Amino acid sequence: MIEVKDLQKKFKDNIVLKNISEHVNQGQVICVIGPSGAGKSTFLRCLNGLEQPTSGQVLFEGQELVGLSDKALDHIRQKMGMVFQGFNLFPNMSVLKNIMIAPIKVKGTNEEQAKSTAMKLLKQVGLADKADQYPDQLSGGQKQRVAIARALAMDPQVMLFDEPTSALDPEMVDEVLKVMRDLAASGMTMVVVTHEMGFAKEVADQIWFMADGYIQETGKPEDFFAHPTSPRAQEFLKKIL
Ligand code: ADP
Ligand code: MG
Repeated sequence: MIEVKDLQKKFKDNIVLKNISEHVNQGQVICVIGPSGAGKSTFLRCLNGLEQPTSGQVLFEGQELVGLSDKALDHIRQKMGMVFQGFNLFPNMSVLKNIMIAPIKVKGTNEEQAKSTAMKLLKQVGLADKADQYPDQLSGGQKQRVAIARALAMDPQVMLFDEPTSALDPEMVDEVLKVMRDLAASGMTMVVVTHEMGFAKEVADQIWFMADGYIQETGKPEDFFAHPTSPRAQEFLKKIL
């Protein structure tokens, strides 16, 4: 579904992604882990064209993203839901409107259909009773669940998550991870940058360990966590486990 070939990304003379070649298959859940500053967010942003690579290729379902016009990129990006650390909900719209707006504006979905999909998704993330509230009336965990529902409303083929629980109070992490776990179980293709090692162990099909601008090591969680092979991963796991 996603293929990355010889991806390189520089900011001025800072080479943030050095040479990455990987692919994501349909239905796979990839957890990207690694120290802060490794290039994880930049990598994720390259996957959906929010960031233009300096060189190399990113293909989504065989289509090259690098060099596309903004309009063509927008079209592809609709198929890739993205959830960030910071929710980014529209503060002046109700929860329901937050979820309805993109399908209506971008896809031309009619109001009634958008509403019924939004209500179904709110139920899925356990927030059917919050439809008429505004974002500032919600807890962080609830906001993030709305953000996930909003991304799902576009019926994406893959969901990209950039540390979706890092800004949350600890007691709210689980409710968001549960929604993500359910989504993974439903067969959604997911690339998740996370520091939640328990989630990664349990849900990932593959771990991609990033450090210093490289994917240093990939593997099944049971192998990676028990026997990391790269020195950088050994060092990282020693610090956090
Ligand atoms: P991570 O998500 O793993 O913490 P990032 O991808 O955010 O890492 O950042 C990797 C490096 O790229 C850092 O050195 C950061 O300062 C740099 N960087 C990220 N985005 C930009 C940008 N827009 N302009 C300049 N430097 C950036
Ligand atoms: Mg980051």
